[in-house]
Amino acid sequence: MHNHASDATGRCDSPARWLTLSLAIFSVIGCRPDDPTRPSDTTPAIPTHASRSTEKASADWMDAIERVKLGQSQRIVLESVADEQFFAAIQSLKGLRELCLDGGMEPGIDLGNAIEPLQLTHLRVRLVPLEDPQIEKIIATQPQIRILNLPHSRLTDQGIQSLSRLKDLALLRIGSPNLTDEAARAIPQMVRLSSLHLIGPRLGGDSLLEIAKAKNLQSFYLDDCPLPDAAWEKMFRERPDLHVHIDQAHHDRDPKRDHL
Ligand SMILES: [Zn+2]
Repeated sequence: MHNHASDATGRCDSPARWLTLSLAIFSVIGCRPDDPTRPSDTTPAIPTHASRSTEKASADWMDAIERVKLGQSQRIVLESVADEQFFAAIQSLKGLRELCLDGGMEPGIDLGNAIEPLQLTHLRVRLVPLEDPQIEKIIATQPQIRILNLPHSRLTDQGIQSLSRLKDLALLRIGSPNLTDEAARAIPQMVRLSSLHLIGPRLGGDSLLEIAKAKNLQSFYLDDCPLPDAAWEKMFRERPDLHVHIDQAHHDRDPKRDHL
């Protein structure tokens, strides 16, 4: 996709070489999905809130809550740790649709219960090792979810199977070391799924063919799960249209590899 011919001199510091390199870097960055949780999700960070006082943090979410109350916003992005006080404050927000808990949650809070009165279509929870029972409660209280983003979960294959009960689920991003080929077999049951991003699952090569059966899937991103080229070739034979990124770079046969 890039023109490498200009580097015939072999000098590493030629301007053309740098231009090529810059374009390559820009392409990779530009190709990342429209997901504000990037770029650090594959290397879970320890939350650093030391520089931010609790008062400052609650002032931030109080403003965000006020905007939702006034109908000016449907979204709250919390960068500090979500605590009981925060969840108490959002209970009556009828207009809240997008909740992004980017700073994790205080231990002991049951997320399903904490968001029960809400009607979310987009939920992102970072830095929380959510397990199957918690996802069951979230499914029960928020059946209308369309975007679910849990990069640091501990879901098992059974948890992924349960997600097919979310009939509107279109974008799923899940990190978990507990996912196997059984999880891949559950993906085609998610009938509206158009974008799937798995981080650190333990899939075998044949699981790609299972994922390829998801009819509405347009994008598939896989991080931290090395698979042989032959497995990818088989998937592309089934689904030459699929937009694939491996470890956050385009696959060579990505039909959109030139996109920015
Ligand atoms: Zn791409």
